[in-house]
Amino acid sequence: MSSAQNDKKNKKNKKSRTSGFATRAIHAGQDFDPTTGAVIPPIYQSSTFVQTHIGGLRNGFEYGRGGNPTRNGLEEQLAALEGGRHGISFASGLAAEDALLRGILKPGDHIVLGNDAYGGTYRLIARIFGAWGVTHSVVDMSNLRTVQSAITENTRVLWVETPSNPLMKITDIAELAEVGHAAGLTVVVDNTFASPALQNPLALGADVVVHSTTKYLGGHSDVIGGALVLNDDEMHEKVRFMQFAAGAVSAPMDAFLTSRGIKTLDVRMQRHSDNAQAIAEYFSEHSAIETVYYPGLDSHPGHSLAATQMSRFGGMLSLAFAGGEKVARAFAESTRVFQLAESLGGIESLVNYPAEMTHASVAGTELAVPANVIRLSVGLESVDDLLSDVDRAIGKALKKR
Ligand SMILES: *Cc1c(COP(=O)(O)O)cnc(C)c1O
Repeated sequence: MSSAQNDKKNKKNKKSRTSGFATRAIHAGQDFDPTTGAVIPPIYQSSTFVQTHIGGLRNGFEYGRGGNPTRNGLEEQLAALEGGRHGISFASGLAAEDALLRGILKPGDHIVLGNDAYGGTYRLIARIFGAWGVTHSVVDMSNLRTVQSAITENTRVLWVETPSNPLMKITDIAELAEVGHAAGLTVVVDNTFASPALQNPLALGADVVVHSTTKYLGGHSDVIGGALVLNDDEMHEKVRFMQFAAGAVSAPMDAFLTSRGIKTLDVRMQRHSDNAQAIAEYFSEHSAIETVYYPGLDSHPGHSLAATQMSRFGGMLSLAFAGGEKVARAFAESTRVFQLAESLGGIESLVNYPAEMTHASVAGTELAVPANVIRLSVGLESVDDLLSDVDRAIGKALKKR
């Protein structure tokens, strides 16, 4: 990039960091089309770009794997959401994780990750990276001494996820960033569950933010995607090269859908949080429920920490049923508004049985989820309909006991 382009980018980034979150979500990287005035920038559904002469690129565009205007717009939007210098958009959340780790690690390196990290992240690190000589340790991230004692001279990455999936454990990002940096590690936070509307890990000291944009950022269950946001120029260069050389880019239409979803993220997260709070309160008074895992409840062990590092408590909650596996399964199969499906973060409410659905890949490992737990992704439907749905389903599940 020329220094004039860099100056322009920095000025733009600075401006987009100072406006409010909802303004950034709508406007960063989403300028109207200068040739037609179209309010929404066009979807550049093109794999290649015409050159003025050999090597004469127009605005740096050459071939779609290296860059596409629709994807670049999304990347600027992503960087602005997390308050970072660089946003990189990928074909999926796991593609983003893979490019990051391959970009910054080499065989012999070691990763420390939480004992309830996303199952697919664990699978990627244990089974794919393990085979290439990258080792890992799984620890309870809420215990700083355990984290510290897992760090070896080969450790390069501390992988943090908060709230965690599915047990909604809250860990202190600022504190872990300090511990990680004291040991010279790259501190990565998977911010998928909170979304940047509720939590900004870079501002709390993390080096890299990871997203499955499939979830809250896309927000409508109609696109798979992933993202990284980071500040370090050298790291950006390495990861960008890994993406270019290995190819896990997001397609123009996928980038457009994600950008479109992001524009309503702020209002969606408000309603997701309000609806989830109401459902959590309903269950917290129900005798059939052993534990409600929701950081918005006073009874949640991470409540006060969540209140300091998140602006709201989000749309995800999990439940442990006193009646065990049978009642949990019956509940998951009895709701009507909450549909039985994997994934989360969409406008519609979903129920999931982690032990055999989202977390089947970690069954029998140290990340296994108890059989009496179900997870809810609380959507944007009318809260009364959600409450009567779970009320009816729990009655039905208890009868099956
Ligand atoms: C879904 C998810 C991922 C993986 O993202 P994909 O888009 O499915 O590849 C990673 N982390 C968390 C917390 C997730 O929920």
